[in-house]
Amino acid sequence: MDAPGSPNSSATIYDDEVFKMACDQFQVIADYLNIDQSDREWATYPKRAVAVTLPVHMDDGSTKAFQGYRVQHHIALGPTKGGTRFTLSLSMGETAALAMWMSWKCALAQLPYGGAKGGVAIDPTKLSRNELEAVSRRYMQEMIPFVGPHTDIMGPDMGTNEQIMAWFMDTYSVYMGYAVNEIVTGKPVAIGGTEGRREATGRGVVYLIERAMSMLKLNPEKCTAIVQGFGNVGSVAALSLAYKSGVKIVGISDAYTAIYNPKGIDVKAAEQHVLKKRHLKAFDQANHVDPNELLTMKCDVLIPAAVDRVITEKNAAKLQCRILAEAANGPTTPAADLILEQRWDEIFVIPDILCNAGGVIVSYFEWVQGLQSFLWTESEVTFTSHSGHGHRRRTRHQSQTSPRLVPMSGDKGSFDLRIPLLPLARG
Ligand code: NAD
Repeated sequence: MDAPGSPNSSATIYDDEVFKMACDQFQVIADYLNIDQSDREWATYPKRAVAVTLPVHMDDGSTKAFQGYRVQHHIALGPTKGGTRFTLSLSMGETAALAMWMSWKCALAQLPYGGAKGGVAIDPTKLSRNELEAVSRRYMQEMIPFVGPHTDIMGPDMGTNEQIMAWFMDTYSVYMGYAVNEIVTGKPVAIGGTEGRREATGRGVVYLIERAMSMLKLNPEKCTAIVQGFGNVGSVAALSLAYKSGVKIVGISDAYTAIYNPKGIDVKAAEQHVLKKRHLKAFDQANHVDPNELLTMKCDVLIPAAVDRVITEKNAAKLQCRILAEAANGPTTPAADLILEQRWDEIFVIPDILCNAGGVIVSYFEWVQGLQSFLWTESEVTFTSHSGHGHRRRTRHQSQTSPRLVPMSGDKGSFDLRIPLLPLARG
């Protein structure tokens, strides 16, 4: 049998470069673990997938039909869990890859979930608020037969936010006839969201960077960082690194521009600018540079926090960072991984399924609170996700997982963490 996604395997609805990348990563680990060939196909392809057409009345009186997707990767460990992405280029294959990565991430953090992902192929920045609400509600309405608090729980991802999660929850609750806040995570605190969820992914990224710095004996106050993507994850990571850890942020970027200032960027001012204007264009406290070049500029910490496949075989050899913290899902291609493996003593990689797991860990806390009508304080949530203390020790928290990697990677005589991590996720 040819591996899913390989040139000789038969065509499927998932055929796409991102799905092929996830399959290639799986094959590397499957070889490492000696997984039988006959067990590889079913462990790779999603359990279920649905595609829906969403007719929406636009403000100008026209009706547009948008494509929506939801993929549930596997259901062996519990209900599926995964974010909802609103991006123009979204495809079934990309959604399936993201669902597979969610499965690995949940298993690594010992959360009782299989992975899922969904979304709509739209550019949310081109829609009015009314249009965005209509798309969001129609998407959830179409998903009602496939999701549920014990079947598949949605959350935010690129292009979606707390408001969209609130519309999802409301649409589902109207259908059920009572408030079902456990159907989504990442919703506003006022309607059952948890304190700390919005910040969770970025904060988790920073916990791990601090741990890596301490292991590498780097003084944060003498370090610089570059962050690609200044949305939910990237902005929180930049703010937390700057104001909690004391790292100087010298570069940030979004889908429109990249800015660089060797003296340091005022990330609070950048955040305020984006809150008002929705992007970094015209932010004048730094030089605007080529967004592709930003990734290869000199810094101690490089944080890709936007889209997949930005570290490739073309730029991996040129990276000038000491720590590569993968806040985005799938930022590094397998070809780039091979180059980074050769550079293991120069660049310490914190792989995505560990680096950005803070989001799903706190989503799990939100779901548990919703199911049991608990209301935890922000310090309870933050302390629990960071340390795994007390009766909620169930999950293998980010900071518990990371120290285990060091002896494991040392055993192999290399510091490439992606290979030891994925077997941990399966185990
Ligand atoms: P977001 O929509 O809030 O922000 C995305 C940011 O990336 C925006 O600033 C956007 O302008 C920028 N961007 C888009 N395309 C870009 C490009 N080609 N180059 C540079 N910047 C670009 O999304 P987010 O929630 O912050 O998610 C970012 C990444 O983190 C995604 O890969 C997502 O899957 C991953 N992630 C998010 C969460 C979460 O809790 N939101 C959890 C785990 C992983």
